[in-house]
Amino acid sequence: MERRALSRTLCVYCGSNDAVPRGYLDLADEVGAGLAARGWSLVWGGSSAAMMGAVARAARRGGAHTVGVIPRGLVELERADPGADELLVVEGMRERKALMDDRADAFLALPGGLGTCEELFEVWTSRYLGMHAKPVVLLDPDDHWDGLLRWVRELRSRGFATQTAMDALVVTRTVDAALDACAR
Ligand code: AMP
Repeated sequence: MERRALSRTLCVYCGSNDAVPRGYLDLADEVGAGLAARGWSLVWGGSSAAMMGAVARAARRGGAHTVGVIPRGLVELERADPGADELLVVEGMRERKALMDDRADAFLALPGGLGTCEELFEVWTSRYLGMHAKPVVLLDPDDHWDGLLRWVRELRSRGFATQTAMDALVVTRTVDAALDACAR
């Protein structure tokens, strides 16, 4: 209990789609194991599917406390995780994100789809606007996010994004580097 009270809680965003190649599930597994090895807790979207399920199961196997936050309307669709140490069923997406933000000490986005993008952009933009000071980290081992990052750099060069905004996101290639960045 004492260890948990003192430990860091990492919010992980990642894909919820079962169709993704096996390597992404392995990556999510590695992140779950890695955060547990550091004595951290997990807050995530509460799904047992795909990468989201893999990160939570690996975290629990490693002894981490896992907190899932899921809107009532997605409990079936996203297969809410019955193994979560805490499963918080909320009314909508805004409440989901607010609770996840509240619980988290840092945010880590893995490869994902539109939902992951949406979640990442909200914590990234609120960080560069100074609305919070928690680390916002992207783990991109295989250039999954390369198109997005190139577009954002283009926004910067065309004057639509500031250097402060660019600096507010830490992009990493390995699980260890990502977790180190989340610890800062
Ligand atoms: P995806 O990256 O599309 O597989 O989605 C990953 C997770 O993001 C899923 O649990 C989605 O329910 C969630 N998600 C999608 N849209 C939003 C949103 N607007 N706010 C919070 N979570 C979302």
